Amino acid sequence: MSRTVYVNGAYLPEDAAQVSIFDRGFLMADGVYEVTTVIDGKLIDFDGHLARLERSLGELDIANPMDRDQWLEVHRELVARNGLELGMIYLQVTRGAPGDRDFLFPDPETTPPTVVLFTQSNPALVDSPKAQKGMKVITIDDIRWGRRDIKTVQLLYPSMGKMMAIRQGADDAWMVQDGEVTEGTSNNAYIIRDGRIVTRALSNDILHGITRAAVLRFAREAQMPVEERSFTVDEAKAADEAFVTSASTFVMPVVAIDGVALGDGTPGPLARRLREIYIEESRKAAI
Ligand code: PMP
Repeated sequence: MSRTVYVNGAYLPEDAAQVSIFDRGFLMADGVYEVTTVIDGKLIDFDGHLARLERSLGELDIANPMDRDQWLEVHRELVARNGLELGMIYLQVTRGAPGDRDFLFPDPETTPPTVVLFTQSNPALVDSPKAQKGMKVITIDDIRWGRRDIKTVQLLYPSMGKMMAIRQGADDAWMVQDGEVTEGTSNNAYIIRDGRIVTRALSNDILHGITRAAVLRFAREAQMPVEERSFTVDEAKAADEAFVTSASTFVMPVVAIDGVALGDGTPGPLARRLREIYIEESRKAAI
C-alpha cells in the first residue's frame, strides 16, 4: 500500500511526491531533520523534537516555516492517513530550491524552505528482539564537523560507521575524539559503573538527544545517580553495563565494545529497567 506523505503543504501518494533537483538539501546537505516516534498512534516527546527543530533551524538561519500547532496538525494527519500505530515520523526542512547551484544562501523571500514529512512503520519497535539480545559496538574515530549539536542531514559518516560495524559483525559504532566517546552513529552513549550512569555532557560535540533528556530525568527520579562527563574507551570496556538512547531505539543495551563483553555479555539490569521506565512513562505522556 502506498504511503501518504507531506511535501510543501500537500498530502500526496509517495510516488507522486517530488522535490527539485536544485534543492539545497540534495545539493549541499543544507537542511535539518527530526524523527518523532509513534506508539499507539500517538507522538512521543513531540514538544522536545519541535524545540530542537527550532534551534537547529535558528543556528542555520532558516526561518521555521510553521508554528507548533501547524506542525502538530501535519504529524497527526500523517498518522491518521497512514493508520500508523507503531513507528516514526520523519521530518526534513531544507533551505529550499533557488533554481541554480550557488554557495551563497538564497533570499528566503523568493526561496522558501522545502518541507517533507513521511511515516515509517515499525511493528517491532517496543518488543524489540535487539533489545533482548543487546547490541555490539565497535569504536571509530569521530571525524564529523564541529556542530554536531545541529541535527543536519549530513549523515554520510554515521552511515559509513554503521557499515564498518556491520562488516565487522557488530551492530553499531561509537565515535571517539581524543580517546573519549562522543556518541553513537545515531544515538547517545552511556556506561554504568557501580550503579552510576555516565554520559558525555552536552556541547557542540554531540547531538542533544531528546531521549537522553527524558532518560536522565527518569533515572534521577528513580534515584539512579547520573554523571554528565566524558569517558574513555578503556573505561567503557571496563564498565558493568552500557546502553544507547534515541527516539527510534528508546534505551538499547550494549553488551560488547570492540569485542570485549561487558558483565556477562547480556543486557544489564539497569539498562533493562531504564528501557521499561522510558517506554511506560513515554506512553503515558504521548499526545
Ligand atoms: N546522536 C546522534 C548523532 C543521532 O543521530 C541521534 C538520533 N537522531 C541521537 C544522538 C539521539 O537523539 P534523539 O534521542 O533525539 O533521537
